[in-house]
Amino acid sequence: MVTNVLSHPLFRAVIVGFLYYAGAWIGVHQAITPDGISVFWPPNAVLLTAFLTTPRKQWPLYALAALSAECLADIPAFPLWAALSFGAVNILETLIAALVIQRLAGKQFHFDSLKSALVFFVSAPAFASAIAAIMGATVYIVLGRSDSSFLAMWRLWWFGDALGLMIFTPLLVTFCHAIKYRLVTFRVTKLAELTLLWTGMILTGSNALIDASINELHFHLTPMLLLPFVVWAATRFNTAIAASTTAIIAWMATGYLVSGIHPYATTLPQFAVWQTQEYLAIVSIISIGLSALMHELRDQRQRLELATAALTYQNEQLEEKVRKRTQSLERANTELTSLNSQLKELASTDHLTGIANRRQFHEAGERELQRLKHDRGKAALIALDLDYFKSINDQYGHEAGDNVLRQMLPPVKNNIRPSDLFARVGGEEFLIFLTGVKEATAVSIAERIREQIAATDMDVPSGTIRVTASLGVVQWDQICNLRTLINRADIALYQAKRSGRNCTRTYLAETEDDDELAPGPV
Ligand code: GH3
Ligand code: MG
Ligand code: MG
Repeated sequence: MVTNVLSHPLFRAVIVGFLYYAGAWIGVHQAITPDGISVFWPPNAVLLTAFLTTPRKQWPLYALAALSAECLADIPAFPLWAALSFGAVNILETLIAALVIQRLAGKQFHFDSLKSALVFFVSAPAFASAIAAIMGATVYIVLGRSDSSFLAMWRLWWFGDALGLMIFTPLLVTFCHAIKYRLVTFRVTKLAELTLLWTGMILTGSNALIDASINELHFHLTPMLLLPFVVWAATRFNTAIAASTTAIIAWMATGYLVSGIHPYATTLPQFAVWQTQEYLAIVSIISIGLSALMHELRDQRQRLELATAALTYQNEQLEEKVRKRTQSLERANTELTSLNSQLKELASTDHLTGIANRRQFHEAGERELQRLKHDRGKAALIALDLDYFKSINDQYGHEAGDNVLRQMLPPVKNNIRPSDLFARVGGEEFLIFLTGVKEATAVSIAERIREQIAATDMDVPSGTIRVTASLGVVQWDQICNLRTLINRADIALYQAKRSGRNCTRTYLAETEDDDELAPGPV
């Protein structure tokens, strides 16, 4: 609600009119020397601030308010046409300044960079005031009130207007900005520092801005001594404080000047005014230029910090992504490894009985023979084939045959060590590789297996049956390879079959050429 009222153009126009009148009053009554020379002209800063901080369509309203205020201030001393002319000149000056500033620095103008300060100083006090001063001086000459030359009038008008703009525009613009964006913050330490700054500055100023001969401290202080305070304000505080600092110095310097106790006592009054104006212009340029630069640096640092924060955040996101991706890759890898080992097991296991298949038997058997060759170890091989297995299938069905195949595993496993290689290498044919075993031991193991198979009741759908097996045993001669060894075991098995089945036979080494005697499938 309050903000609505504050931002209403009519309300603003009233404020502009009031401040313009107050500025004109200061310019005419306070900042004027006994010789009638105005040190600075503040009201134009009010109108320029209004132009720089509001939309263009509201400008005529503020110009009208300024014109009314100008007439109100001038009427007692000047005719209406002159008051209107002065108002028009001032409006034109601020209009030129505002348009050039917005053209060069953008519509959202603020003293936030060195460029913005430069644009302001060049466009407003240096350019617009100089142009307006030509018209102002002309009105004065036509009015016949001045005994000075046109050039002297022009310079007088120009410097007064320029200084008024330089001192008050930054102050008013930053003030409006602070209100608009609610930037006013109070910190006790800052407030204490500001009190120290302004107290020190006013004490120094009250000795440096006066006639040296009446200096209470009996020091010859010069106005330059206030520059460190200006730098202090510009670097440690915001533009509003820097602009206020400049305004205080301007108020003091002008106050002393119009009272005739300025430090330039030995010069002509006209020169004293110029020197004060020059001095205040330098103070304003340093103060506003430096604080705008600091604003820019702070902005840059903030942007850099934001960019760094964004980069850190992105980095963290990326690291998180990489971490998740690595995790899923590790999981996939573990799954793959386990699948691989499952696959390997499947490839090396007989699906029906779960024991090793032919492929696994050959791989492991070759490895074992190599190791035994190296260690000069012993080994024997048993070949086992169920007798008349075909008829079991025929009689009880293939599934019953499968069950019999599974049920004949315990009699074998009971008689061998877990480390011995036991594999199903054909339909009902098995191989048992016994490490570190002589033929006699192998034969007795084979016999025990045979007896236990024969004594086992095997379940079939119609009840139980008994099956027998024939076995061939061969001792490894520490020379031959696995293929030959298997061949020899098969020869022995063939002998067992020929001997009437359900018996064990050993391989007889009389026949040298094993391949010739190789039996067909049993
Ligand atoms: P022998 O005493 O001479 O060994 O006679 P056999 O009937 O056991 O011999 P043969 O080799 O002629 O028959 C083997 C039979 O084994 C033939 C086939 O039906 C059966 N067989 C082979 N593989 C499987 C299997 O995985 N499951 C079942 N149920 N039977 C099989
Ligand atoms: Mg058989
Ligand atoms: Mg067979």
